[in-house]
Amino acid sequence: MNVTIFSTKPYDRRFLDAANTEGTHRLTYLESRLSAETSRLAAGAEAVCVFVNDEVDAAALSIFRNMGIRLVALRAAGFNNVDLEAARREGITVARVPSYSPHAVAEHTIALILTLNRKTHRAYNRVREGNFALEGLLGFDLAGKTAGVVGTGQIGEIVCRILIGFGCTVLAYDPEPNPVCQTMGVRYVPLEELLGSSDIITLHCPLTPATHHLIGSQSLGQMKPGAMLINTSRGAVIDTRAVLRGLKSGAIGSLGLDVYEEEADLFFEDFSNRAIGDDVFARLLTFPNVLITGHQAFFTVEALTNIAETTIANITSFERTGRAVHEVSVDRIARPEEFAAAT
Ligand code: NAD
Repeated sequence: MNVTIFSTKPYDRRFLDAANTEGTHRLTYLESRLSAETSRLAAGAEAVCVFVNDEVDAAALSIFRNMGIRLVALRAAGFNNVDLEAARREGITVARVPSYSPHAVAEHTIALILTLNRKTHRAYNRVREGNFALEGLLGFDLAGKTAGVVGTGQIGEIVCRILIGFGCTVLAYDPEPNPVCQTMGVRYVPLEELLGSSDIITLHCPLTPATHHLIGSQSLGQMKPGAMLINTSRGAVIDTRAVLRGLKSGAIGSLGLDVYEEEADLFFEDFSNRAIGDDVFARLLTFPNVLITGHQAFFTVEALTNIAETTIANITSFERTGRAVHEVSVDRIARPEEFAAAT
């Protein structure tokens, strides 16, 4: 198939070219992010391939339909950036990569927790400048602390396993408890109890209407004072302005983010020679107890290999059978058990 691929970086090209082993598909790489304005760049394609911050909205999908595009292949698991209702209306199939490496995201989550706690990011800079003072670097033992995991699907389950390995007591909140976690000794509790009892709270639920601003003024008030909050799921699960207030008052002890509500205008680009126009984000960067990475939790060799291979498999299957391997739609997807996990 002729496939136009939006939001690509050199590493995307390397892994997708490697996965397109039979050379069956003609892949056209664009650096542009998808929006209604840039959607016309896909003229001549039969399929488009998009990433997490591409806006697959009704306007873009309507333009795609008129250009003869029949497939939108996501290089991601989450599909909150796709208007599935509009896709159905336009008769466009949407496919995703349901699982690429939950280990990548889980391990990055732990990296944020360990770095924030032991302040290795600050120690690195100090030592390079010949400053070996320890004042300000005090951490705490993870062993014996209580960690609260919100969302215990593929990623949350691994986070639970690692935290138990550290000697933490792990509480979880998920409308669908995971029996594997229960076997490990994870205790499912109501969200309010998790917030009130946890020294570390880490978010691994999808962004849905139910989880939008799940952590806001009210839930921050329920948190144990000084708790560490980690978000590697989707930015809008947290109300950033409320969290800023929590940081200023000391209600939040430390904050680790890999995702941000308004990340689409910032992340994956180099702003080192430009001003950051987002004042909320800029304010977050001023806190010594805030650590932000730019949506890199997925970024491992294994994950990029799986993403590329599954994306090519989706496109090949759609070309041969009219169905992608991992479809997602407002009604059902090809594999009902995936639908249950994704929504
Ligand atoms: P998953 O579908 O396997 O698990 C999600 C879990 O969240 C499920 O167990 C589900 O029951 C639960 N859940 C649903 N609604 C909830 C609610 N209201 N409260 C609490 N839990 C709820 O997904 P996954 O593969 O573990 O991924 C989790 C999220 O991580 C994804 O949705 C995505 O947003 C994010 N993610 C981020 C990156 C990154 O690079 N930062 C990469 C991949 C995925």
